[in-house]
Amino acid sequence: SPHLGILGGGQLAQMLALAALPLGVRVTVLEPDAQAPARLCATHLHAPYTDAAGLDALAACDAVTLEFENVPVEALTALEGRVPVRPGRGLLERSKHRAREKEALRAAGAQTAPFMVIETGTDLDGALERVGGQGILKTSELGYDGKGQARVSDTAGLRVAWDELGRVPCVLEGLVQFRREVSLAVARGPDGALAFGPLTQNVHRDGILRTSLFLEGDPHEAQAREIAGRVAQAWALEGLMTLEFFQLPGGELLVNEVAPRVHNSGHLTQDGGGVSQFEAQVRAVLGLPLADWRPLHPCAMVNIIGIEGPDGQNLGPDWAGIDALPGTRLHLYHKAWRAGRKLGHVNLVAADEATLRERLAILEEFIP
Ligand code: ATP
Ligand code: MG
Ligand code: MG
Repeated sequence: SPHLGILGGGQLAQMLALAALPLGVRVTVLEPDAQAPARLCATHLHAPYTDAAGLDALAACDAVTLEFENVPVEALTALEGRVPVRPGRGLLERSKHRAREKEALRAAGAQTAPFMVIETGTDLDGALERVGGQGILKTSELGYDGKGQARVSDTAGLRVAWDELGRVPCVLEGLVQFRREVSLAVARGPDGALAFGPLTQNVHRDGILRTSLFLEGDPHEAQAREIAGRVAQAWALEGLMTLEFFQLPGGELLVNEVAPRVHNSGHLTQDGGGVSQFEAQVRAVLGLPLADWRPLHPCAMVNIIGIEGPDGQNLGPDWAGIDALPGTRLHLYHKAWRAGRKLGHVNLVAADEATLRERLAILEEFIP
């Protein structure tokens, strides 16, 4: 049976492994954290990403993929020529670095927010004016869930923000007044054939994704597919990647960022009745047949984040209460509780949009 290696053992690896098993695919993850979610459903090589014995074990797989973009590029270099790594090093190098990513998106013909690369203190001079007077300073590397970012609205604030982020290489983006945020995944097989996931609408709070929604017949899906397909070809994607977009009031889509893997906004595909994004990534990476994957009915996903009381106590979430609501499907990550940490998600299913919205309103009362 095919054997898939994964760099990273977090919840995405857990869900990739759960999707791989019924296809007859075994999974091995290389992951330095002893308590990482995928430990329970895959062979866990408990070692650093650059560990020689760990990389030898991955090199013995039929293909290797990523669940995490912050793996060192050296791990991919060490695997090159020994096993297909999908996505490969070139795509990882772009998607793990915001400045390179934005430049490569523009080179592929996609639009982004206005941005300035900040590498030294003098790069701050006039930068805010050039991106429109209000912006978000983001570290070029290692940020996620809105960490490593600061909103700025004047030059003094920009200087403070750069100091607080540690004066590391950053990107200053203009603040986009978007109508909504959407995302879409694209896969490209070893033969170059493209397949797409559904367009989802995403709501963030404090930089963290809270809710994603899939509704049938979104009029902007074709535009998102066109952009994703163009970037996938230009970047010679192998495997699966997800584009996050800002949609402007006039309808145009700007690419916010690219994840070289399945994405939190695609979790709703697990319970939408069609092929899930996890199965899609496994198929694309192993060169198995793959068509567009999409839910068969409207569905939603709500992230479950650790809630802390005024004295730092564990206030939930109330898993049992959520489990008892109509239409909910639980997905827990087997992680220790910590305030602000993603502990799991709930997918919501319904036969029609009106029911879905009713259920979403009820569910949201359980998630302060
Ligand atoms: P993740 O990788 O977990 O999606 P991240 O830390 O890489 O998050 P971003 O996607 O860059 O962060 O930003 C998080 C959220 O902050 C966005 O989804 C959006 O809601 C808001 N945001 C980011 N950049 C901008 C911008 N230029 N203008 C307006 N809003 C923004
Ligand atoms: Mg990101
Ligand atoms: Mg993001």
